[in-house]
Amino acid sequence: MNSENFALSEKIVSSSYVRQGLQARRGHEHLVRVLLEQGKCPEEGWDESTIELLLSELAIMDSNNFLGNCGVGEREGRVASSLVSRRHYRLIHGIGRSGDIAAVQPKAAGSSLLNKITNSVVLDVLKFTGVRSASSCFVVPMATGMSLTLCFLTLRHRRPEARYILWPRIDQKSCFKSMVTAGFEPVVIENVLEGDELRTNLQEVERKIEELGATNILCVHSTTSCFAPRVPDRLEELAVLCAKHDIPHIVNNAYGVQSSKCMHLIQQGARVGRIDAFVQSLDKNFMVPVGGAIIAGFDEVFIKEISQIYPGRASASPSLDVLITLLSLGASGYKKLLSERKELYGHLAQEMRALAERHGERLLHTPHNPISLAMSLKCLQTHSDKAVTQLGSMLFTRQVSGARVIPLGVEQTVSGHTFHGFMSHTDAYHCPYLNAASAIGITKDDVTLCMKRLEKCLKSLRKEKNESTSPAEGLEDQTVP
Ligand SMILES: *Cc1c(COP(=O)(O)O)cnc(C)c1O
Repeated sequence: MNSENFALSEKIVSSSYVRQGLQARRGHEHLVRVLLEQGKCPEEGWDESTIELLLSELAIMDSNNFLGNCGVGEREGRVASSLVSRRHYRLIHGIGRSGDIAAVQPKAAGSSLLNKITNSVVLDVLKFTGVRSASSCFVVPMATGMSLTLCFLTLRHRRPEARYILWPRIDQKSCFKSMVTAGFEPVVIENVLEGDELRTNLQEVERKIEELGATNILCVHSTTSCFAPRVPDRLEELAVLCAKHDIPHIVNNAYGVQSSKCMHLIQQGARVGRIDAFVQSLDKNFMVPVGGAIIAGFDEVFIKEISQIYPGRASASPSLDVLITLLSLGASGYKKLLSERKELYGHLAQEMRALAERHGERLLHTPHNPISLAMSLKCLQTHSDKAVTQLGSMLFTRQVSGARVIPLGVEQTVSGHTFHGFMSHTDAYHCPYLNAASAIGITKDDVTLCMKRLEKCLKSLRKEKNESTSPAEGLEDQTVP
């Protein structure tokens, strides 16, 4: 209500009560003002009523909610189901204009404002989580793989001759496909084994640059967050190589925002060398539904170029979800989630190590991986190859999700390229293993339950091994979760 309406209200209800109501409203409005002024993630999380007030004010600014609107175009923000309309807080126009996902939409001042505020708040988060010199970013309503594709397609205009992308191997199908879909030829750089860790082969990257010629290489495509025993790429060294040879560098930071180590690597890489863009998933880092990513970088012109290559308008849902989430958590709430995650990583490592030792296995030594852990499954392997995959299906049946069992010798062809030892990031790792990750939102109960169920599975597999004459045990395992 505006001051005029408040004045009228005073004629209906006691003016002292109305003035108190006005004060209360100003409290909410003050928070909105600070957000608009600073464009930063508020330190303290907002009340749901403040968020709803903001969203309703934004929606009222869009033409589909004008009281006197008459639409005679083909896209008028008409929505048949009111359930759908409410699901989107009546923000129906999406974001962007035909030529640019970051452009302002004249029909939708509210949605355009939402988009700009979200990008600004998200940039603030990228900065305070460690990439302090990031200068620009935008939310794009596509998951990480497609967002990487968009980056590669943008680079094509800058390097029309380039055909190859140098890619330190990470066994995740969408990162490989992101390059193939963009029309480029991935050059797989096999990792090197250092202790238990799989790390970037810098010599091989440099050798490939010399062999193929820098101008024929579109970019280096590196990765931070990944499953152990692979660890984040040597970003600083890669960034220096890219600067030296004048080759762009795109970083896949899929779930790296939640780890200060991954963010620090990006900050350092950009400081000492070259990073053109880094891409992160919205759902993996901010606990929102799947469907969005953030493309960020250090050169506003290049990031703008990426946003301009996006054809047409786009869904505002991922932007809306992440804005609501960040306003409700506040910077302090998000940081709290990050520190809980880090603490539980230590707890998970401790529990996994103890469990591994009880079963004659060991926690692989992968100190450079800040999120994912791996324990060997050597004994299981000596029993039979089948036991390793059986453990995987037993865990699945027992509703342990996210724990991956990696057997040896899996062959997998992705977009025409055959990977040996697929999932293990190398042709032949020295043992099969099991992965678990401490990712944002994990609870102590998750760790406790997972370890308990894993213990049960390992015990019953061992029993089976010792009494391999008793098939009843095995059968029971398959049917009783
Ligand atoms: C999740 C993930 C991706 C991308 O997956 P999307 O489904 O496209 O978001 C790419 N690389 C890594 C390492 C990932 O973890």
